[in-house]
This record gives sequence, C-alpha cells and structure tokens, in this order.
Amino acid sequence: MIKKYNHEFRKDLVSGDWILIAPSRRFRPYDRKKRSAEKIKVAKTDLKKEVADCLFENPQKNGNPSPILWYPRPETPLKKRKDFSTWFVQVIPNKYPLFNLPFGKSCPAVQSFGPQKTLKGIGFHELIITRDHFKTIDKMSIEEAELLLKAYQMRYQALANEPCINYIIVFHNHGKSSGASINHPHSQLVAVPVVDPDISKSLAGSRQYYEQFGKCIHCEMLEWELNQKKRIVYQNEHFVTLEPFAPRVSYETRIYPLSHAAHFEEITDEKRLALAESLRDAIGRISKVLKGDYNFFIHSAPFLSQKVDNYHWHIEILPRGYSWAGMELGVGIEVVVVPPEEAADNLRKIGRK
Ligand SMILES: [Zn+2]
Ligand SMILES: [Zn+2]
Repeated sequence: MIKKYNHEFRKDLVSGDWILIAPSRRFRPYDRKKRSAEKIKVAKTDLKKEVADCLFENPQKNGNPSPILWYPRPETPLKKRKDFSTWFVQVIPNKYPLFNLPFGKSCPAVQSFGPQKTLKGIGFHELIITRDHFKTIDKMSIEEAELLLKAYQMRYQALANEPCINYIIVFHNHGKSSGASINHPHSQLVAVPVVDPDISKSLAGSRQYYEQFGKCIHCEMLEWELNQKKRIVYQNEHFVTLEPFAPRVSYETRIYPLSHAAHFEEITDEKRLALAESLRDAIGRISKVLKGDYNFFIHSAPFLSQKVDNYHWHIEILPRGYSWAGMELGVGIEVVVVPPEEAADNLRKIGRK
C-alpha cells in the first residue's frame, strides 16, 4: 500500500533552494508506459551491431590519442600488467573538448566589455572509459569499480597542480536522456578556472553555516539523517547513501563520507574501496527501481588560494525520467513526485542484486 504523503515545500539546507514535494503529480498522463515501450524498442535493436559500431571499444583505433593514464584489468597477472591490451580503464583527452588547453604559465584575466565580463575558455576535458560495453558500474566487481574511482582520483590530483585550474568536476551520464551521446560506459572530467555556479551556491551555504555555528552543515545534516533513519538507503564503514530531505528530482541519491572531508582527491585506499562498494550499490538499486537513465557527479571543494575546509565532498546521483515542466524552468522550483522517504523505502527494499 502506498503511504500518504502531503504536498509540501522543502528547503535545501545548503543551497537555500526551495523544492515542492507533490506526490499526486505522478498520476499525470505523461508517460511511463510510453517510456517503457521506447525501452523495449531499444532492447530489440541489434546489440551486436551496437558494439561493432561503438567508438569506445578500441578508442585508439578510432583516432583517439594514447591514454594519459590507464589501468589493467584487476585480474591481470603481474607480468602482463604493462601490456596495454589488458586495459580496463583509460583516460584520454576529449576529441571534442569544451575548452582550449591552457597555454603558457600565466593565467587569463577576466576582461570587461561594457557591463559584460569574459574569460578565455581554457581548461581540461577528459574522458574516462571502462572496457566493457555492457558493464555499467553496478555490474562491475568491487575491484573494477575501485579502479574507475582511482582513475578519477589520480586525474584530480594531477590537474589540481595546474596553475590556472580552480575547480574539477567528474560526471557520468548513463542513457540517452542523460545526455550521453555514446552508449559505452564513460565518465567525463572537466577542470576549469572558474567555480561552477551550482557548487558556488553550496560552497557559500557551507561557509555561511560554518561562520555562524562553527560546524560543517553537511556533518550536522548527516548526524540528523542517521538519527532519523527515514531517508537512509545504505551504509558501510566509511560512507552513507541517502535520499536528501529536499531533492531536486525523484530518487535523487547522495553518497557522503561519514567523517568530514572537503576534498575527494585526498581519499585513502581503504576508503576508496568502501566508496566503490557504495557507488556500485547505489547505482544497482536505482537501476533496479527505475530501469532508466541517470547522471552522477562528484562535488568536491575547489582549489582556491585559500583552502576550503568547511565543504563536505559527496556524490550526487540524479535519475532521469520525470520530465521537467514550466514550474521548474520558469519559477525555478523543482517539483518532486516521489517523496524521498518513499524513495528510500523502495531502494532499501529492492537490494542491489
Ligand atoms: Zn562499446
Ligand atoms: Zn562535514
């Protein structure tokens, strides 16, 4: 039986944004039926052909440069670990980058044109590709998922040392509606001189709270959530997976380190393994409940001259499939049809496998 949930505005503690929980909206005619019909059509296409045509089966054969970084499959015997044919994950520069590469040592300055401001479009745009076409993160072994996270981490660390780079984000798109243009599992890393507006807001929110109360707002929120237990999906020794109190979409899911840490790239080997477990678990549950597309990204503190320690890094997973309408685009208030308490309940019950 579906529990009754009231319509309610909720405020995101960190960003200050209001969202609207509106459970009855899910009964709109829009269509899950139509969506599942689309899925069946996809399932009937020739999967073999999809793989044969896939540009990421052998990225180098398709005109991509040699990898910046790669790791062999975890089970590769020691003497073959330097043989590139054993690759499981590789990082390459994006063939169609969003930016120009930084040139020289001096960083570009902001220029003014009347009231408008510009900054040269420099930055890094890399692709992190895993080997197997149908092996999404939930289907990876824990060692494989960990290698993927290690590739993210090593690139974060390397690019953090670039003189003009202030902010790095890793994101992963799964499925057509998520914006992924290629079906083969891959993530993207973007390193830029400016701090992205979404995280700026959450950085400002974190700083404000810290200045006012001397505590990390995320740690406070985690403590409250762990006590309440209503929105917790999964927990291991180092991470907790939960549905945020004021999500932006139904089934928005977040993974937080249990102990305070501002920078993802400083994660220890032990914690990285635990994170691999949590990420695999979260994506597995979401894929089972929604059978749809999703995006996830890592929100970590920027590299500014002043170290930002009051931020609390985390992973945000945003499932697709609940269409955006005027309320979201025009008013800026997200309408969420599945209350996070119900979403957490469903995700807990379903399990990962
Ligand atoms: Zn492929
Ligand atoms: Zn914290």
